[in-house]
Amino acid sequence: MRSDFSSFLAGLSKKILSFLFPEYCLSCGRYLSEGGLLCPECERELPLNRNFCPLCARPYPEGAPPHPCGDCLSGRPFSRVLAPFLYEPPVSDWIKRFKFSEDFTLARALSRLLRRYLPPDLSFDLVVPVPLGRKRLFKRGFNQSALLARLAFGRLDEILVRTRETPPQSELSGAERRRNVRRAFSVRDEARVFARRVLLIDDVMTTGATVEECTRVLRAAGAREVTVAVLARA
Ligand SMILES: [Zn+2]
Ligand SMILES: [Zn+2]
Repeated sequence: MRSDFSSFLAGLSKKILSFLFPEYCLSCGRYLSEGGLLCPECERELPLNRNFCPLCARPYPEGAPPHPCGDCLSGRPFSRVLAPFLYEPPVSDWIKRFKFSEDFTLARALSRLLRRYLPPDLSFDLVVPVPLGRKRLFKRGFNQSALLARLAFGRLDEILVRTRETPPQSELSGAERRRNVRRAFSVRDEARVFARRVLLIDDVMTTGATVEECTRVLRAAGAREVTVAVLARA
């Protein structure tokens, strides 16, 4: 009886919520009567990263056997990279829009998508976003990785800081990217990092130079392990 009543209440509150805050498919814009992020058709078409390097999540062609990629053969400072999506439309379009406009609805949707497609048993002590330089933070108004971290995991440990401004990685080649981010980060509070398991958050990973340098600094400060989580892998 009681459980009938509580399920009635749960159904009613869901109806009220969807009346007050109607939800539309992120991809095709269709109204979702049951709420949620995507309609089933669009969800099926998401560019999932299905076959990849077990260490850095670099995408492999379908059917390639599991093996570490060339860049991972000599080891990596992070323990692994989790990247549920490929950097392809529509995910790449959403990420660009999210970065360059303060679309909070989109930010919330992407965070939910990230959380939903990460392993449910993920364990960590700190959620650390890749920091933006002060100039870029001022220009953009927000750090997209920090927003993702807070919305997806409900916590934010901003213990990494940029020690110098660097040109955007997207304008550089692989070797230049590595040089560009060298000594660009430091840990604000080493005592908080010591012996902790860090989940390092960024929106996209391309060569991995940035997250690798962040991981190096975190490990040097005593982090027990660093797992990287990004929305999409290029
Ligand atoms: Zn749809
Ligand atoms: Zn790899």
